[in-house]
Amino acid sequence: MSGGEAQLPLPAIPPATPRPRLTALPAYVPLRSAAAIFATAALLLALWRFLAAGRPTLPLWAEVLPDLILLLLACLALSAVFLRELTRTAKLAITDGLTGLFNHRHMQQRLAEEVARAERFGHPASVLMIDIDRFKRFNGTYGHQAGDRVLAAIARLIRETIRATDIPARYGGEELAVILPQTSLVNACGLAERLRVAVEGLKFQPRRAAHPIRVTISVGVATYPNHAAGTAELLDGADQALFQAKRDGRNLVRAFERREQPGEPMPAAERRRPAVALVQLPLIKV
Ligand code: GH3
Ligand code: MG
Ligand code: MG
Repeated sequence: MSGGEAQLPLPAIPPATPRPRLTALPAYVPLRSAAAIFATAALLLALWRFLAAGRPTLPLWAEVLPDLILLLLACLALSAVFLRELTRTAKLAITDGLTGLFNHRHMQQRLAEEVARAERFGHPASVLMIDIDRFKRFNGTYGHQAGDRVLAAIARLIRETIRATDIPARYGGEELAVILPQTSLVNACGLAERLRVAVEGLKFQPRRAAHPIRVTISVGVATYPNHAAGTAELLDGADQALFQAKRDGRNLVRAFERREQPGEPMPAAERRRPAVALVQLPLIKV
């Protein structure tokens, strides 16, 4: 794959860590506002009731109505707080703390859903399996904290590069996966290559290093229904393709090839070797 090809636009790296796109869940910020509004209204009403105490007797309905409204507002405020906490907890339960990507369990669940959908509607679905090259050596040389920041930066880059409908996850350790709904093998390989080139273009500055350090990734690609009849087979295909990328020298994208069909053509984008990264991306202090 050619790193300097014009048809592969490189993604910009945002300066700040964006929020993970967990679009399946509602945002909780409006709930916080709702809770504050209801609570303030309840307090004002309570204050009015206090100041109005001892005034000439009002009709019964006028006495009771403010209390009922007060009760209702208090209930609404509590419900908003409860819902907000519930939403936040639900988000945490499916998110990996270090990378902000979905966790392994949620990824498995979403993959099963996407494969079922692909089967039903007759469209493809692809999986990228991504592994950082020689990461043990990086940790050993520059420390695990620097390694953690590299992992988080690569995860951020992935989030910023993929579509909102794609599903990025931390598969385990320094292996990341992306589920690509309605994506053909060729398109999945194109995205994998863009990610590979973008990571290659990142520069990291660990405290222990005198000069900026670059890291690379290897990516395995598998597609339903080309390579697999189900989720386990699809993941296994992407995993095998990843190992092939490692065997072929790392910093590569490889698509799964079934052994019984060695003549299956591989997408053109995936056969070429990287040349040089032409862009200068920001230096990331790790
Ligand atoms: P290869 O190119 O073959 O992938 O070599 P590698 O050294 O990267 O080998 P492997 O993928 O097996 O290495 C996994 C290493 O990733 C082990 C561990 O040191 C590191 N690692 C896994 N999870 C984390 C993490 O959360 N933070 C950090 N800093 N390192 C991690
Ligand atoms: Mg590795
Ligand atoms: Mg690994």
